[in-house]
Amino acid sequence: MGFRIVAAVFALWAVASGAWGPAAARQATNVSLIVANGIVITVDGTRRVLNPGSVAINGTEIVAIDTPVAISARYRSADTIDATGKVVMPGLINTHTHAAMVMFRGLGNDLALMDWLQKYIFPAEAKTVSPAFVRVGTRLALLEMIQSGTTTYADMYYFEEEVARVTKAAGVRGVLGQTVIEFPVPDAKTPAEALKRTEAFAKEFAQDDLITPSIAPHAVYTLDAAILTAASELAKRLNIPMQIHLAETSAEIGQSQDRHKQRPVALLDSLKFWAPITIGAHGVWISPDEIALLKQRNVGISNNPESNMKLASGTAPVVAYRHAGVNVGLGTDGAASNNDLDMFEAMRQAAFQQKLVSMDPRVISAPEALEMATIGGARVLGQQALIGSLEAGKRADLIIVGMSRPRQTPLFDPVSQVVYVTRGDDVETTVVNGKVLMRDRKVLTMDEGMVLREARAAADLVRKAVQQ
Ligand SMILES: [Zn+2]
Repeated sequence: MGFRIVAAVFALWAVASGAWGPAAARQATNVSLIVANGIVITVDGTRRVLNPGSVAINGTEIVAIDTPVAISARYRSADTIDATGKVVMPGLINTHTHAAMVMFRGLGNDLALMDWLQKYIFPAEAKTVSPAFVRVGTRLALLEMIQSGTTTYADMYYFEEEVARVTKAAGVRGVLGQTVIEFPVPDAKTPAEALKRTEAFAKEFAQDDLITPSIAPHAVYTLDAAILTAASELAKRLNIPMQIHLAETSAEIGQSQDRHKQRPVALLDSLKFWAPITIGAHGVWISPDEIALLKQRNVGISNNPESNMKLASGTAPVVAYRHAGVNVGLGTDGAASNNDLDMFEAMRQAAFQQKLVSMDPRVISAPEALEMATIGGARVLGQQALIGSLEAGKRADLIIVGMSRPRQTPLFDPVSQVVYVTRGDDVETTVVNGKVLMRDRKVLTMDEGMVLREARAAADLVRKAVQQ
């Protein structure tokens, strides 16, 4: 072979392989993690689905999402996860739960909210809730969340600094609300004490990468106007998100009218209660005028279809919220009224519930349900610039979901499959802030056996508490 021919063949090879020519100047950049060859559902502004697609992650951030060929030309990593045939999607965002209440899972089922709260939950909590109990319960909840693809959750409970510590250790993202309620509770004898606690907690976790401290005045039926106002002032002063149970049941509307002479939304508006980020949990018994007001005040709604159905609380006007431009996310509520923390089930039930009550199967489509569980939730929490979709520059919170079960076969439409047949157990790998928390079903940041043993042991306290 003459020199010229060899040179020409080499040049052809070099251009085709990207080793030379325009790409030659750009060497592949080292990144910390590549998720390769998946069916990438981005939930970005154009709802892009790349099939196949790869995601390059460096440190805590997504640096690029593109075709596998383009990503492997530009990036290399010592750690690559092959996602062939699997869905790669944003981690799910649970906008309302009480994590440690997994310890009351299955307790006092089949009762109305007020009966259930007053006969079972409040008394059991009074006898069991301690820093150690909250740690054990929250760890159990975190294990369930990591295993079912939840990467961010909004919590309302007691000893929230303990919740924050175990959440951070597990590597999960949280908007964690310290409860303020009028009767004595395990972490505060008075609401004033709860406010003080909130302030110390907010200080401890200010600027944390995973934890956003928050304040959670419980509801208008468990707080008077002065405390609601004080909680709101503290949220504004500390610039932290506020979470409140809002118009969950028709009984709550009656209680609000008896006690405050106003419906919940009108009362809170007259108190100038709303903070820059306010998360209204449930928002079931809401009129069209109130929807317009919530939009004006930038209040986000956490829709909790399973809890609302199990307690027969009602159906939130999700379609009307969305038409009015109110941000809507999904939540599971505490496991005690659900009875699990599986956000895939929440997506499915959210769609089914709205279709049934409106007698219109076109409302809350699969893409809309997925949106509520991801970018919608991020907007409700005020974190849409960071999480909720797979986009370069956002935090690397993503999950890899198996799609090869019989019930997922055949696979025509990945989004429909995710919403209508996928379960939390199908999640194989969970990544938060660029860190792999679960890989091929093995949780890496928690000792699964230990978490379960401790939870079973602590359940004895609950058993004793409800026997007395
Ligand atoms: Zn709740």
